Amino acid sequence: MGIAENIRDIRERMDRAAREAGRDPAEIRLVGASKMNGADACREAIAAGIDALGENRVQEMTAKLAEGAYEGAPLHFIGHLQRNKVRQVVGKVSLIQSVGSLALLEEIHRQAEKLDMVQDVLLEVNIGGEESKSGFSPAEIYGAGEKARTFSHVRVRGLMTIPPIEREPHGNLPYFRKVSQLYVDISRNLYDNDFVYLSMGMSDDFEDAITAGATMVRVGSAIFGHRQYHE
Ligand SMILES: *Cc1c(COP(=O)(O)O)cnc(C)c1O
Repeated sequence: MGIAENIRDIRERMDRAAREAGRDPAEIRLVGASKMNGADACREAIAAGIDALGENRVQEMTAKLAEGAYEGAPLHFIGHLQRNKVRQVVGKVSLIQSVGSLALLEEIHRQAEKLDMVQDVLLEVNIGGEESKSGFSPAEIYGAGEKARTFSHVRVRGLMTIPPIEREPHGNLPYFRKVSQLYVDISRNLYDNDFVYLSMGMSDDFEDAITAGATMVRVGSAIFGHRQYHE
């Protein structure tokens, strides 16, 4: 199947999962994780009505930006971001989804201040407590949300998570439910109407993420096909 058909199919599955959970399908955004796919694939996804595209690597994103790959759709940064690359991302994307430390948050604030703008971000939760992943632990996330409010050039729009790799069907549902609870608590106690994005769920588990309350899913291979990793 082509990209447009894949997107149509995923939307149908998203809508069904939302309705089964008693939710409004219109409140859930589909972000295409377009890493390792060229500008043409990005344009195809935009023409098919994807809500946004998300990139993982600064270098790849910069090259595709120069090609005009994202024209017509918002661009998100969803990968691990190093502090020395923040300058290349702030102001270039509408949302940085993967902010997992206060040091990174502060650097984003500083760059946005220089550009005289406010950068929208999500705080990343390391829900599985994995050493290999970045993100705030569930115990830290509330404090991070509080601290973030003191940075005037960042606006926290919600939470993002990448749960551990699960082999069992529905294995990630408990993680999604935990992050959803954190999202509701933080939203209620710290933020107002700007706090609207709960980004979780990928190709294999976006329906479970929607069941648990996701308002944004990040789907790569189910849209673009399996990635070819070249050595
Ligand atoms: C690649 C990627 C996705 C999408 O993964 P698929 O399994 O291909 O759908 C989602 N989120 C992040 C952060 C990614 O890097």
